[in-house]
Amino acid sequence: MLLSTQTDFLSRAFGDEEALRRVRAAGFDAADFAFFHYGKARRPNPLLLPEKAFLAYFSGLRALCGRMGLPIGQTHAPFPLYRGDGQDEARLELQRRAIWASALLGAPYMAVHPAKPREYRPETMREEAFELNLRLFGGLIPCLEAHGVVLALENLFTYGEDGEIGEAPGSLPAELNRLIDALNEKGPRFAACLDTGHALMLGVKPQAFALKLGKRLKILHAQDNDGRHDQHLLPGLGKVDWPKFLKALKQAKYEGSFSLEADQFPAAFGPGNASESYCLMHGVGRNLVAGRNETRNAK
Ligand SMILES: [Zn+2]
Repeated sequence: MLLSTQTDFLSRAFGDEEALRRVRAAGFDAADFAFFHYGKARRPNPLLLPEKAFLAYFSGLRALCGRMGLPIGQTHAPFPLYRGDGQDEARLELQRRAIWASALLGAPYMAVHPAKPREYRPETMREEAFELNLRLFGGLIPCLEAHGVVLALENLFTYGEDGEIGEAPGSLPAELNRLIDALNEKGPRFAACLDTGHALMLGVKPQAFALKLGKRLKILHAQDNDGRHDQHLLPGLGKVDWPKFLKALKQAKYEGSFSLEADQFPAAFGPGNASESYCLMHGVGRNLVAGRNETRNAK
């Protein structure tokens, strides 16, 4: 299984090219390329570049990865996808650009967050959310087909007004499966991205979630937390039982890479310690993937 990590923290600190160089230098086999912070920094959003510059930018990054032997196995879409505020067509256009950029980067999968209707309440709005997601993602099928990209819908969570953790559309395995299957009936361009930490926050063990997704599971956001906060910690610093999770991946015949989404770990120590924190992230990930688990849940 290839070991991968996302570019988010490194890219914010050093830019995209240097982020990819550092992922490779730390020893990772592949990268998860994050688009979701684009436009938040003062730098211009590369997804919005004029076509010629856009093609040159992402093809240039692909060429760099080719020279380093670092495939980009997955990307992460900008979010939110939907707010119901009149700006949603522009958001969808950004998703189309991100799909195109994924193809230019050579990434077969892009992780996306399912849309959440305004003031979402799962008790009464489940069907409304299902229809909304069917419409939004269904509308992206021609773009996905043109670029040969698969959208991997991620399990999320939400915080209620009282601060309690609650369900977002697709938070639980049955609902995520239903949405993916319904979309695949329209066009077979959809899969699942399992976020281990989000599963834990809703009381679902990541190993159980993986088994329920089965063949739909194509990419991972491997991260740890205390079960209550979306901490994006390095495996071993939270409550995920990593040996059991790795066993479940095998049982589910998972063929994708083991991709860490643990950027709060390097972020805690800052860009000045990035080499050291990525070196440790790599070591922890490598041992897990090789079955030499040394995290606190080691058995
Ligand atoms: Zn995630």
